[in-house]
Amino acid sequence: MAIQRPKGTQDLLPGTVEQWQYLEETMRCVCREYGYDEIRTPMFEATELFQRGVGQTTDIVKKEMYTFLDKGDRSMTLRPELTASVCRAYVENKLYGQPQPIKLFYIGPMFRYERPQSGRFRQFHQFGVEVLGADQAVVDAEVISLVWDLYKRLGLTKLEVHVNSVGCPVCRPKHRVQLQEFLTTRRDGLCKDCLDRFDRNPLRILDCKNPACQAATIGAPTTRDTLCEDCSTHFEKVLAFLEAAGVVCRVNPRLVRGLDYYTKTAFEVMVEEIGAQSAICGGGRYDGLVEEIGGPPTPGFGFAMGMERILAALQVQHKLPEEKPRVFAMLIALGEKAQIEGFSLMSALRTQSIPVSMDLLNRSLKAQLKAADRQGARYALILGEQELEEKVLLIRDLTLGEQNQVPLSKAVEEIKKMYQRGVNA
Ligand SMILES: [Zn+2]
Ligand SMILES: [Zn+2]
Repeated sequence: MAIQRPKGTQDLLPGTVEQWQYLEETMRCVCREYGYDEIRTPMFEATELFQRGVGQTTDIVKKEMYTFLDKGDRSMTLRPELTASVCRAYVENKLYGQPQPIKLFYIGPMFRYERPQSGRFRQFHQFGVEVLGADQAVVDAEVISLVWDLYKRLGLTKLEVHVNSVGCPVCRPKHRVQLQEFLTTRRDGLCKDCLDRFDRNPLRILDCKNPACQAATIGAPTTRDTLCEDCSTHFEKVLAFLEAAGVVCRVNPRLVRGLDYYTKTAFEVMVEEIGAQSAICGGGRYDGLVEEIGGPPTPGFGFAMGMERILAALQVQHKLPEEKPRVFAMLIALGEKAQIEGFSLMSALRTQSIPVSMDLLNRSLKAQLKAADRQGARYALILGEQELEEKVLLIRDLTLGEQNQVPLSKAVEEIKKMYQRGVNA
């Protein structure tokens, strides 16, 4: 039996991979404009990094990691996300010793053992940004604004940014107590997961999707009610900066992030789909994370977005660019001598960065013209025995059906002119 790819993975074939290239190029372009540099970290890390950096109690660490022992009996894990890796790299390479903040972005595959029926991939792709070494509100706003600009550049519409402040280690314990008091009499209405969260992590009950839990938490004290002065000022500033940048946002008190090292601003970008909103990007401030994985106290802010989700949203909104022709011209050489002469011409054209292609299967003129059409070539460059004898090249415009001859010695120059006219048109 033929071997198949592992469940939850995909082969990105020509025809689809161009959409990925387009998305990645747009992301790189926006990051460059904002002054963010790319970071590439290993596909696998010591398991402990994710246990500490993602959190022992999260579904990711409890259920979804690809963990294995290597031949040296060390526990390794395929990266399920990248924030922890970026923080590790920041500490290990002493980036805290460089001028701060360090503004980074990444694009690449992540790995989680998801249930196949959930429609998610086990190897999926994320784009994300992390800013380390600055705790000012303007950082939060800049990163959210970068996401907003990216979506605008891609042409996505029906977007809304949800923001909240989850407080800090100073003010959060107060909210925790108030929330537990509020929920004590409503405990029976909570789902099994939330009963579990009640003592350990009651904040997460606020963002449970179970309707019973949502009903039980109506009127519950929000983190915003108990923010300390520092957190409150920070949040007001973030909102003011976002307004100045023209980002459409809404304060959503149910938006929380459950782990201790998340502080202050949390945000999500929601896109409206048939009848409902769903998140296509999430992130926030994590002033406690670098310390958690053994580095010096360092403020951080970042987000991650699933690229499969973005492509799906672009598809739904018909915003994916049309497929571009792969080549400018197709060389049609008939006979062995013409093929050798043509091969030399191709080499000269490619030196000028003109995308050209030639038949590799010795097909007939008719079949080669068909192939030129299929590749979207604008011109066919025809070189038969007669042309070879007269030292000319026949150039046929495949769109207009016109053709003319140029001396072989002038062919590169002529085609280059035509190509530049086409590029500038
Ligand atoms: Zn606070
Ligand atoms: Zn619940």
